[in-house]
Amino acid sequence: MSQDLFHILCLIWTGIALITFFLLLYVRAPYGRHVQSGWGPQISNKVGWVLMELPSFVCILYFTASYSHSSYAYLLLFLWLLHYANRTFVFPMRIRTRGKKMPVVIVVSAIIFNLVNAGLNGYYLSFFENYIPNDFSSWKFLLGASLFAAGAIVNLKSDQILIGLRKPGEVGYKVPRGFLFEYISCPNHLGEIIQWAGFALMAWNCPAATFFVWTAANLIPRALDHHKWYKTKFENYPTERKAIFPGVL
Ligand code: NDP
Repeated sequence: MSQDLFHILCLIWTGIALITFFLLLYVRAPYGRHVQSGWGPQISNKVGWVLMELPSFVCILYFTASYSHSSYAYLLLFLWLLHYANRTFVFPMRIRTRGKKMPVVIVVSAIIFNLVNAGLNGYYLSFFENYIPNDFSSWKFLLGASLFAAGAIVNLKSDQILIGLRKPGEVGYKVPRGFLFEYISCPNHLGEIIQWAGFALMAWNCPAATFFVWTAANLIPRALDHHKWYKTKFENYPTERKAIFPGVL
C-alpha cells in the first residue's frame, strides 16, 4: 500500500471517530453501569473485556515479531504491548463484576475498533517508519514519554481505586474519594486520554494521532455519562466535582 493511500485511510478513520463522538453524546454505550436489555445477546463482562482487547495485543505482537524495526519503533510497539497486556489479561481478572454481562454488539464493535487501530499503528511502524534510531532526546520524545507515563499512572491508580471500592462479593456502587476523584468523576478516562496523547507525540504519525482522537471520542462522552449517572444516583454527590477535565467539564 502506498503511504498516500494509507494516510487517506487514517483520515477516513478519524472522520468516523468524530461522527462516533457526536453519536455517543446521545447514545450511552451500554456496558458497565450503563448495561441494559434491548441490545441483543449478552456475554460475561470479564470474558467480554478479554475478547475486546485481545485483538489489539495480538495484532501489535504480530507486527513486532514479523518485521524488523528501529529501536525507536520497537519502544513504541513495546509500550503498546505493555498497555494492552494489562488491559487484556490483568484488568479483567481484577474487576469485581460478579454475574455482570455485556452486550455482544459492544464486544464486536470494540474488536473492530481495536483491530483497525492496532492494524494501522502496527502497519505504519513496520512499513513506513523512518525514525532516527536511539533518538530519545527530542522534545517530542521527552514530552510524549512524560505524558504517556503520567497518563498511565493516573489511569492505573484510578482504576485501582474504583476496583477497590467493592469488597470481594459486593456488586453495588459507591462515591469514589481521594486522588483526582476530588476534582473529577473519571480520572481513569482522563489518564487514558493523556497517555495516548503522549504516545501520539512520541510516534508523531497519522495512525497514532487517529488513535488519540478515537480514545477521546470514546471516553469524553463516557465520562459525561458516568458523571450524570453519579449525580442522579447519589444525592450527596460532590457538586464541585467535574466529569473529566478538572474545573472545566
Ligand atoms: P469504569 O470507571 O466504568 O469502571 C472501572 C471498574 O470499576 C469496573 O469494574 C466498574 O464496575 C468499577 N467501578 C467504577 N465505578 C465504581 C463505583 N463508583 N463503585 C464501585 N465500582 C465501580 O471504567 P470503564 O468500564 O469505562 O473503562 C475501564 C478502563 O478501560 C478504563 O481504564 C478506561 O480508560 C479504559 N477504556 C479505554 C477505552 C479506549 O477507547 N481506549 C474505551 C473504554 C474504556 P462496573 O463494570 O460494574 O460498572
